[in-house]
Amino acid sequence: MGGLGIRNVVSFNQALLGKWLWRYGHEVSHLWRRLISTKYGEGQGGWCTKVCRRTHGCGLWRSIYGGWESFSKHLSFIVGEGTHIRFWHDRWIGDNTLRDLYPELYVCSAVKDACIFDVLWIPKGSTVRVWDLRFYRAFEDWELAASYSLFQLIQTRIPRGDKSDTLGWRLKGDGKFDIRSYYHAIRGVSNSLFPSKGVWKPKIPRQVAFFLWTAAHGRILTLDNLMLKGRPLATWCCMCCCDGESVDHLLLHCPVTHSLRTFMLQAFGIHWVMPGSVAGLLSCWHQWLGKHNSNIWNLVPGCLMWIVWLERNRHSFEDIEKTLDELKVLCQWSLLEWSRCWSFTDCSSIIEFLLSLSLVS
Ligand SMILES: [Zn+2]
Repeated sequence: MGGLGIRNVVSFNQALLGKWLWRYGHEVSHLWRRLISTKYGEGQGGWCTKVCRRTHGCGLWRSIYGGWESFSKHLSFIVGEGTHIRFWHDRWIGDNTLRDLYPELYVCSAVKDACIFDVLWIPKGSTVRVWDLRFYRAFEDWELAASYSLFQLIQTRIPRGDKSDTLGWRLKGDGKFDIRSYYHAIRGVSNSLFPSKGVWKPKIPRQVAFFLWTAAHGRILTLDNLMLKGRPLATWCCMCCCDGESVDHLLLHCPVTHSLRTFMLQAFGIHWVMPGSVAGLLSCWHQWLGKHNSNIWNLVPGCLMWIVWLERNRHSFEDIEKTLDELKVLCQWSLLEWSRCWSFTDCSSIIEFLLSLSLVS
């Protein structure tokens, strides 16, 4: 998850077990695979075993097989001879099965479980193959358009029958299974959605970057998160005293945070429409002024959110609070100090620094 690469253990384990399901479908002649298929029986097409329901014996394959339903959604079938791929049920054309694309024709089909090979006909003395689909009744008028569309779709897909049927992995361009793509599919997220660059690239102190990373995951210990952990608390934002305290409220929408941010943006001469989440903000903020002008700009979210977080903790635990004006000055000084650390500026006074920022925009 995110930039540090910390994974969800349950999902990662499922993705690792997916490797065995993939190997079962490919390593047809291997001894381990033959042993498993002898014990549990071959499932339809031989891509996996039959359903494992036996309660006795070793449960290892049972737990691997348990992931088949999720795993098989990401498979495609590459037709060779067509003897192991079902015409209606398997995904061999595009992302859908023909049963899903043409349900009205599927219900009329005479052999619903037919393999592709079974619905091909090779005229005597010819090497050319033609489709030979059987339906148990003639089509009605309203079914003709669908039947025409089906035959158009499959007309150019007649398998040549010169190699074996095989499995493909739809989540990778080269069709080969990999654990990483499966893991992301299970988690329902793509790594690219997490604003890693917005968190780790700006030249902010490491502890602030780690704080941003936690906040972007919605995991900093705001009152709503503490309540989820079972602490009986009132979720009251101590900064504005007019709303519940959540990560996005505290770091984005709280009136105090909003005032500080508007104040900072004024220095750049920019108006900004806020996204709904911290992760959304970090995604779109990074390098917004262009590659060469964004060094100081990239520091702003970390600087602002860190100051709000420290202030919120002072409020909560020490009962000390700064005025809004004091916080604004603190923001300016922190930004100046961080910028000087990396030689993004050589200004020594706030006024000089603010004037240089407005020139950036
Ligand atoms: Zn608030």
